[in-house]
Amino acid sequence: TDPIQKLTNILTLEAEKYEDRAVFGGLARYADTWLRETASLYAGDTGAGEAWRQDVAGRLRVYSRLPDRAARRKAVMALLELLRQAPAVEQARPDVTPISTPAPAPVTSGEDERGRARTGLDSPVTVLRGVGKRQAQRLAKLGVHTIRDMLYFFPRRYDDYSCLKPINRLQYGEEVTIVARVWDAGVRRTRGGGELFKAILSDGSGSIEATWFNQSYLADRIRAGQHLAVSGKVDEYLGRLCFNSPEWEPLDVERLNTGRIVPVYPLTAGVRARWLRQLMKRTVDYWARRVPDHLPESVRREADLLGLEEALLQIHFPDSQELLERARYRLAFDELFLLQVGMLQQRHAWRSEPGRPLRGDRGLMNRFLRHLPFQLTGAQKRALRQITADIRSSHPMNRLLQGDVGSGKTVVAAAAMVLAISAGAQVALMAPTAILAEQHYRTLTHLLAFWPVGRNPPQVRLLTGRVTGAEREEVYAGMADGSIHLVVGTHALIQEGVRFHDLGLVIIDEQHRFGVRQRAALRQKGYNPHLLVMTATPIPRSLELTIWGHLDVSVIDEMPPGRQPVVTRVLLPVERERAYGFVRAQVEKGRQAYVICPLVEESDKVEAKAAVEEYQRLQKYVFPDLRLGLLHGRMRGEEKEETMGRFAQGALDILVSTAVVEVGIDVPNATVMLIEGAERFGLSQLHQFRGRVGRGEHASYCLLVSGSSSREAQERLQAVEATQDGFALAQKDLEMRGPGDFLGTRQSGLPLLHLADITDLKMIEAAREAARRFFERDPELTHPDHRLLARRLAEFWEERDFLQEGEIS
Ligand code: ADP
Ligand code: MG
Repeated sequence: TDPIQKLTNILTLEAEKYEDRAVFGGLARYADTWLRETASLYAGDTGAGEAWRQDVAGRLRVYSRLPDRAARRKAVMALLELLRQAPAVEQARPDVTPISTPAPAPVTSGEDERGRARTGLDSPVTVLRGVGKRQAQRLAKLGVHTIRDMLYFFPRRYDDYSCLKPINRLQYGEEVTIVARVWDAGVRRTRGGGELFKAILSDGSGSIEATWFNQSYLADRIRAGQHLAVSGKVDEYLGRLCFNSPEWEPLDVERLNTGRIVPVYPLTAGVRARWLRQLMKRTVDYWARRVPDHLPESVRREADLLGLEEALLQIHFPDSQELLERARYRLAFDELFLLQVGMLQQRHAWRSEPGRPLRGDRGLMNRFLRHLPFQLTGAQKRALRQITADIRSSHPMNRLLQGDVGSGKTVVAAAAMVLAISAGAQVALMAPTAILAEQHYRTLTHLLAFWPVGRNPPQVRLLTGRVTGAEREEVYAGMADGSIHLVVGTHALIQEGVRFHDLGLVIIDEQHRFGVRQRAALRQKGYNPHLLVMTATPIPRSLELTIWGHLDVSVIDEMPPGRQPVVTRVLLPVERERAYGFVRAQVEKGRQAYVICPLVEESDKVEAKAAVEEYQRLQKYVFPDLRLGLLHGRMRGEEKEETMGRFAQGALDILVSTAVVEVGIDVPNATVMLIEGAERFGLSQLHQFRGRVGRGEHASYCLLVSGSSSREAQERLQAVEATQDGFALAQKDLEMRGPGDFLGTRQSGLPLLHLADITDLKMIEAAREAARRFFERDPELTHPDHRLLARRLAEFWEERDFLQEGEIS
């Protein structure tokens, strides 16, 4: 039978229930069958037909992961539309012709082990002349398996022979390439018994010595009289400049005259620079123009981008620095563009789903606001307006609420809860730790006590891992029958047995602490509930667009009035005694202090041990007369709770803690935050710690004890000293340590961008804008001209599939 008709039938069946039952094993598995059955349709084609086939397969593959019925319905409709638009077979023309010498073998259409059709580009590198099995294995170590991989295997740097330096102008410490004649060369024994290969290089302006340790085989390669290109860092030995183990190559005169900017590729054992460069040149020359450009003409024109062919040629063998830059720009733009289109698709999918408008009682909400002992700041009001507009609309809210520590996000969220509860819906608030959930529970119970008499007061309950047995059953029952209106909890909220009667609003605090899956899991406990995620980690705009581009954003960028800045000082280890004296003086005034232990490693166990030791040391030798408490991640929930409780009540003077105290703890009487090993923490995290003090009426202090005197460490810590602006610190963190550190392990490497720079806001915004314009024209990517892009997009997101779970489709 006709495979197109067959799939159409399957999809029509699927459209009855959307349960992924229309075909045995699910549609994702059917993708392979589809590719197999249509392989002969467009045999040898690398153009429209092939792209179309792959587009269909890509959409099938992600089907099972789509979060809900609405997303599935859309996907099925788009697929059916796509099937109606199958390119005519006559149009397909064989594009893979055998190549004159040097010739890869003609490639027939087939499939690799991932079920991806093999066009010429997906052939293994062994089809290239001069690449046998052994070389292929070595290239595989570099991540290069196919011809396409070759094209995307970019140089790690370039040698620009148009600005060679003469030897007499070299300076200590610089990275240079020189071209010189070998004057003399030979192996010496060192006193330690090693072997040293030395060469004296001269270029007419002067001479310099280069040495290679334990590489005596070089004696066969580098000989007097030869011309070499040598690159490396200029070093110094006994007062004279020299090179230590520089990279070198026999000089290629042709290269000097023709390609003046020469690519330098990452290498591995058995893969030599010269060989790889020659192979690359042949491959790029022949294949670059056979890679169809997935970016539509309109996008390229509007963003003024090089075509893909030109970009691939220029990134490998640039004709000028300017073209190299443009090539890099184009290829980096590709990544950002695909990312942004994916984000927009997600946002669009969400916004077009039906949601439940929670109109609620505005009068009641205003009454709540009037009962607060303060006025909302302008920024809080603005955020609340945006949130209420969202939850009163008939599409689900999907909003990120950003605000520095202490900017007052909780009250804003509480006001939204009042509206939702008065509309008859249930609300769930999920926090990353039990301590934080309990604190929210207390705050919210307190805030909701304003409820007017005569009206049914809302039932608020706590659900954490510590709520067990009969109590848990009772909470479960209340959530299921709707008698509980607000539940505050931890991961316990997303357990299997948890059911809501009518969950209308989901709020997630410190959202970067949760994975995408956990957020989706909570959301799925209701029917398209409104979602508000909150974070106190200020996110630079570039990251916000890159990672949370599918969310709407509200920012509270104004602190409640009267907050005193926390006086911050960087101290050297020798000044620790002074710091202790300061802590003692504050305690004598009736205040309390935190001492944060250094980050040992990502292991609760090691960390806990270090914290216990620090606690014992401080209690025994430094503050024997004061009341100390200890908090670390290995303690049981009740223990932590008890310690926190005693600290909050003032029964402890000093709380010694690991980083677990970071999030959201509120003890207004605490005025000193002493952080040991401060250089090990990210700046945003230090800022979070600092936010634990300065919450009451007393002047507060943050003391950063650095274990390192390196300039970089000092510079980073001084940034914390110099500003109270969380956004500025986040930006600096991002620039200095990259997004992985910034976001913590859970999301490190998340965007998986190879070329694009995550701090390049200008480029990110350009890609966002291009994606937005493109997306408006063809949100479902069903236009025939967009098939290649649809396919690239599916591949791009497939590689990042941990992101897709529920959030990105
Ligand atoms: P966040 O969660 O953003 O770190 P919180 O909501 O915990 O901040 O608020 C910090 C403190 O500031 C709380 O004690 C809160 O009652 C108080 N607060 C919030 N908004 C205001 C305001 N507009 N004016 C004065 N105090 C406020
Ligand atoms: Mg908070």
